[in-house]
Amino acid sequence: MLTQEYVNDILKNQCVNLRFHARGGQGGVTASNLCVEAFKGRGICQPKFGAERAGSPTESYVRLSFDYDLIRSNEQVYGPHFVSVLDPSLLAEVDVTAGMPQGGWLIVNTVMNQLEIQDLVKRKDLNIATIDATNIAMEILGRNITNTIILGALIRVSHLFSLEDLSDAIMRRFKGEIAAKNIAAIKQAIEETCLYEVNIELDFSKDTKVPWQQVELGLPGYKELDKAGVWYCDENVIKVGSDQVNTGSWGEWEMIWDKEKCTDCAQCWFICPDFAILREKGDDGLYHMAGIDVYHCKSCQNCLEICPVNAISKRSKQGPASCAVPEENGGN
Ligand code: SF4
Ligand code: SF4
Repeated sequence: MLTQEYVNDILKNQCVNLRFHARGGQGGVTASNLCVEAFKGRGICQPKFGAERAGSPTESYVRLSFDYDLIRSNEQVYGPHFVSVLDPSLLAEVDVTAGMPQGGWLIVNTVMNQLEIQDLVKRKDLNIATIDATNIAMEILGRNITNTIILGALIRVSHLFSLEDLSDAIMRRFKGEIAAKNIAAIKQAIEETCLYEVNIELDFSKDTKVPWQQVELGLPGYKELDKAGVWYCDENVIKVGSDQVNTGSWGEWEMIWDKEKCTDCAQCWFICPDFAILREKGDDGLYHMAGIDVYHCKSCQNCLEICPVNAISKRSKQGPASCAVPEENGGN
């Protein structure tokens, strides 16, 4: 079992990664936000947005550390130390243990026992915590919203923050009776969480942020992305792909790429909302940055902000204002 002292020590120079699996509308993103708000260090969280509707599987990611530099990543969490599953039906639909290192903690809102969960996820090297968050939610909140309650189980196993820290975060976010009920539900969850430990030491160093320079550059360009991508051009699905839209006509800035400074880290490619970062397959079989697609770049400046070596700059498309002088005034 992890102790408060051990976790504090880990957080000094390593990053603890969390992933939340929920269904659209269950508040998985709020749960991840609350983790960062309750944590007494540095944290970042990102949801994975697709075209999901209420009920569709969702994911959100959290990175926590006392070292600011370790959490600076917009990448999704691929190797979570703690995974929380808000809806037990997801166990059979989504690979919720993907990337989890041995000895990681799988926390599930369920009435199943841990051995049944082991069978379902086909892993016997994970610690498992179960909590009947649905029942607590129905009893205390009067509706099946389990996102804050699962955090009680997370407190019990992780020591990343305390009940008091989380209560403060809850009170900043919710008011009056709603806040009080959520805190009561979390308290109950801490007491009622069932633990099943496998006695394998969790190696936090394995999944600390991967330096960007190690990112595999053999990733596909956007046309090869599968249907999970939010931007794709498959005329069997959508007759005119969104690549036909001249989003580049909206922006006021022209983004300029400096090939000499660029280290090909691909961060701008990851973050560009319009897939306007062009990449070409090189002779080495890998994709390399090749420029910026002005037809689609809407000058949001995300790439400029994220580039670690300032290889992207901007200049105004518009140029300085001018004023035509009527001829009859003779230019005076
Ligand atoms: S400015 Fe925005 S839209 Fe344009 S290339 Fe950069 S990230 Fe993409
Ligand atoms: S422009 Fe900057 S962020 Fe983009 S690949 Fe080059 S170094 Fe990385």
